[in-house]
Amino acid sequence: MTFRNLVTGGAGFLGSHLIDRLMEAGEEVICVDNYFTGRKDNVRHWIGHPNFELIRHDVTDPLRLEVDRIWHLACPASPVHYQFNPIKTAKTSFLGTYNMLGLARRVGARLLLASTSEVYGDPEVHPQPESYRGCVNTIGIRSCYDEGKRIAETLCFDYQRRHGTEIRVMRIFNTYGPRMLPDDGRVVSNFIVQALQGQPLTLYGEGSQTRSFCYVDDLIAGMMALMNGNHSGPINIGNPGEFTIRQLAELVRDRIDPSLPLTTQPLPQDDPLQRQPVIDLARRELGWEPKVSLAEGLEPTIAYFRERLAQG
Ligand code: NAD
Ligand code: UDP
Repeated sequence: MTFRNLVTGGAGFLGSHLIDRLMEAGEEVICVDNYFTGRKDNVRHWIGHPNFELIRHDVTDPLRLEVDRIWHLACPASPVHYQFNPIKTAKTSFLGTYNMLGLARRVGARLLLASTSEVYGDPEVHPQPESYRGCVNTIGIRSCYDEGKRIAETLCFDYQRRHGTEIRVMRIFNTYGPRMLPDDGRVVSNFIVQALQGQPLTLYGEGSQTRSFCYVDDLIAGMMALMNGNHSGPINIGNPGEFTIRQLAELVRDRIDPSLPLTTQPLPQDDPLQRQPVIDLARRELGWEPKVSLAEGLEPTIAYFRERLAQG
């Protein structure tokens, strides 16, 4: 059985990988994006395919379409980008999710929300299970994103309770891979681009904070298992392999140019100190777990940036 899929944020990093998987499976895909952080180039290879449509649209405005499934990913994900216009970020999460849930309700579609580990804030419980309610600063510079995603989750569950809308809520932990923007601002792309350009790698703080990095192919497999399964979530999808940011910098540097120095810059406000997903629920309910280690996933990611930078 194939579906008519709407992918919001489909021209972005994760959305474009999801579209590849859906198109390869013979599904119909409508990609909606306002190109804030996405690029037409990420989906260019599908333009002209009879199963594919591309629409420039901002999800803060309502949208009328006939679809079976809505993969709601539209929202800038890098702190640099979501802090560029924080009020717009909050609107995108709230109004965007509200509009997409309204669409899902009207046409009877199932909606998957790309939520985030940021709903746990700077966590006091480590590692983080879905039952942990988080420690989020409501008034800080990350709040537009963190609180935006929290209200987006709330809307999903109220649509489910009130209107019977089928929802799937996925809490995505730091994910990396080809098609991240060179100026994306997130740590993996920053370090790789800096190293390829022969520049020092910039640790924010001492680099002792931790993150757990998931390769994009694993993440998309988890996303598809969640949409196709029977569990509404919220469900953590991420790789439990936890690294300090300094360890990540060393891994990247040693692969590209071991002579490069690491420098320090001030730690941004509210930067979480530690982060690691508990993925027992995903293992049990979806039969999913990540397969690609950080060392393995860095190879194709570095190769991508090498080629991208060579193109200028
Ligand atoms: P991305 O910035 O590459 O993609 C987001 C896409 O949404 C872009 O194409 C952008 O142009 C589009 N967009 C933004 N605002 C929009 C709007 N108002 N209307 C229409 N389109 C809009 O980021 P990504 O890493 O691909 O993240 C995709 C989703 O996954 C986001 O919702 C993000 O919050 C979530 N997520 C990602 C990560 C990660 O590590 N990549 C972690 C947690 C959550
Ligand atoms: N970070 C860093 N150097 C960089 C970019 C980020 O040390 O050039 C740190 C950042 O302070 C954070 C971690 O790396 O502690 C992950 O940052 P990212 O923006 O990738 O994701 P998030 O903080 O949203 O998890």
